[in-house]
Amino acid sequence: MRAEIIAIGSELLLGATIDTNSAYLARQLAAAGVNLYRKSVVGDNSERIAATLREALSRADLVICTGGLGPTLDDVTREAVAMAYGRSLEFHQALMDQIAARFAAMGREMPQSNRRQAFVPTGARIIENPRGTAPAFIVEDPIGTTVVLPGVPYEMRYLYEHAVLPYLREERGVTAVILVKTLHATGLGESAIGELIADLMLQENPTVGISAKQARYELRIGARADSQAEAEALIAEAEAIIVARLGSHLIGDEPLADRVARLLREQGLGIALHECTSAAPTFRALSAASGGSDGIRGVLIQPITNPIDEQAAADLARAGAVRTAERWHAELGLATQAASTIDPSGMTAVSVALATPTELLQQVTRRYDLRQAEGWDFVATLALDLVRRYLSREPA
Ligand code: ATP
Repeated sequence: MRAEIIAIGSELLLGATIDTNSAYLARQLAAAGVNLYRKSVVGDNSERIAATLREALSRADLVICTGGLGPTLDDVTREAVAMAYGRSLEFHQALMDQIAARFAAMGREMPQSNRRQAFVPTGARIIENPRGTAPAFIVEDPIGTTVVLPGVPYEMRYLYEHAVLPYLREERGVTAVILVKTLHATGLGESAIGELIADLMLQENPTVGISAKQARYELRIGARADSQAEAEALIAEAEAIIVARLGSHLIGDEPLADRVARLLREQGLGIALHECTSAAPTFRALSAASGGSDGIRGVLIQPITNPIDEQAAADLARAGAVRTAERWHAELGLATQAASTIDPSGMTAVSVALATPTELLQQVTRRYDLRQAEGWDFVATLALDLVRRYLSREPA
């Protein structure tokens, strides 16, 4: 089944309200195994809503709309949906009675404008709304099905869970299960990871996608199947391939800084940090580790004052790592040192070194765009990953 979502409301186009309804529905449809092809946002204008809906129905079997079911004249979703299907609106006395009863229960007189809410497109199936006055409805037609839900998020969610999902499962044969598993990787760029798993990223089921998050990469494996067990098997198969290809670049579910702090704790080791900027990226990341950061013995922040090139940065990092470990009586010293030059493409060389008080253990130099603050997040990730690999006895 192909689905589309249409969020209706001029406040969404003005940016006054964030369209959280579509995000919720997208997650729900994915979990139900329904393929979502497109999401649209349209203002409170009946012609434009009708045109958007007709267009969606030309591609999809199921369209879910939210919003514009209120009692005021700018709530035009009912008219627009009727227009898109070439139907008229019909009055339902039973709906009118329910709306009136709701007002009576609140001890208020029902304004005449609420009568509008008792009209739905001819032949539509009504979904009662015990959470609000706006009834929702479903139009079934050979050109496609449209489910219309109110815009108020908690009403919309309630009706999706209690009416729409059961309808999809019981009457529309939606049985699939979608499972998603996320793996975390670091130490390789997005394009390098993409090349290693290009074949998986092209396949349809399971799907594999990459997204970058603070200098780490999330690899999402999504599988669709008729049962949980089959979906799990599809995921396991893709995961095994990814593990074989990315190996030690995969860092498990634990955030990197938490992992490093835990390994230091478990191995009874202390680390001293030498940072070349007051942003102190490595110190900041490690000291925020959720299990505590008692492994940090000390930090020396020493921004450079004279110009240094890439070679000088590497020399300073190496010396800084050894010296800082020695100075703070720590088993390990970790230093980051950026060159003072920016090359024409905007990149700066940064050298990261890991040492004991007597010898250099590892050193890498990479280039980052440090003109933006996130550049330092990449440096912290590089540095902490060097420590993680050393403590896990994995090759750098
Ligand atoms: P009601 O008749 O209960 O007011 P409605 O269908 O007329 O419902 P709207 O008037 O469009 O809904 O919106 C009601 C409230 O829900 C508004 O506060 C609006 O900001 C919010 N809302 C509408 N659409 C969305 C959306 N897509 N995401 C998040 N909030 C929304």
